[in-house]
Amino acid sequence: MRKELRLDPQFVRKLRNDLLKKFANDNDALAAFPAGDRVQCHVLSLFKRVDSNIDGATKLLFRTSAGMLIESVILRIATGRTTLCVSSQVGCAAACDFCATGKMGIAQNLTPAEILDQVFQAGQLLAAENRRLDNIVFMGMGEPFHNEQNLHETLQILTASHMFDRSPSTILVSTVGVHDAMLRCAERFPLVNLALSLHSVDQETRKTIIPLARKHPLNELQETLRQVNKLQQREVMIEYLMLAGVNDSSDNASQLAVWLDGIQAHVNLIPYNPIDDAPHLTGTDRDQISAFADILKKAGRKTTVRYSLGNDIAAACGQLVRKENRDKAIQDHKFSRQS
Ligand code: SF4
Repeated sequence: MRKELRLDPQFVRKLRNDLLKKFANDNDALAAFPAGDRVQCHVLSLFKRVDSNIDGATKLLFRTSAGMLIESVILRIATGRTTLCVSSQVGCAAACDFCATGKMGIAQNLTPAEILDQVFQAGQLLAAENRRLDNIVFMGMGEPFHNEQNLHETLQILTASHMFDRSPSTILVSTVGVHDAMLRCAERFPLVNLALSLHSVDQETRKTIIPLARKHPLNELQETLRQVNKLQQREVMIEYLMLAGVNDSSDNASQLAVWLDGIQAHVNLIPYNPIDDAPHLTGTDRDQISAFADILKKAGRKTTVRYSLGNDIAAACGQLVRKENRDKAIQDHKFSRQS
């Protein structure tokens, strides 16, 4: 378009800076652009915004051009920092037992533009509140490494100085453990943080909650983490969902500490909020989570407990999209019965 309209490159540069780095409002940024009416800023349309009444979480439901719903979550943490959780796919083929997105079945990959527009729109929303977007985590719908090429392109654009210009160390990619893709990511983006959703160090237990574990067994992941450490020279995040009676005993904590031997890691214990689709799973109570954390800390492991925000707005991955789809199905059913 720049060549077609013989635009001064400076105008294009300014527009890109205003929108992608400063997250200026569309109208303000386009007002100063000679061909503002020819620019389409977004590929996603905002379908619904839900703000938590109890904490600083906001869930954004977007509709893609193919008509699919996806979720992003903004977390405004008490320290003043903000984090955006983005989706990389619609649905997820990993089918984890505890996850609403996993219950949706097959996945569709989001394009880099669709992933980046989540960042762009959330950044604009925060800028309108005079806040900055500090961190971006790939922990929303989808297994990012099942959409690897688009993920890499997205990371490239997020960190490019002429585009979003974000520090790679403020970005975290979370995976259930696609080992070869973890290595490729660590090689190409050594400063981007990696998180492994581990959830159990017993292969049989892990297979029951993460079916993908059949393909990527624990011993392979252990070796992968060591190699990732070498490539990144920093610790990897270990996500551990606390599921009552499944993975939360004192023995489980000691086994986790042993399993992590020789691996630079920070363990994040995550309380589980039950979902309708997995009534057989419940969360560990707080005392037991603290006892589990103490065992890890005594074993010399950096450990934190992440109390999740947005419980009142179904902030966990995929829950609101599932609810919207279910509500729509109920509406459609009622309508077809009436007609
Ligand atoms: S937890 Fe992540 S990888 Fe597992 S099904 Fe949900 S979105 Fe997919």
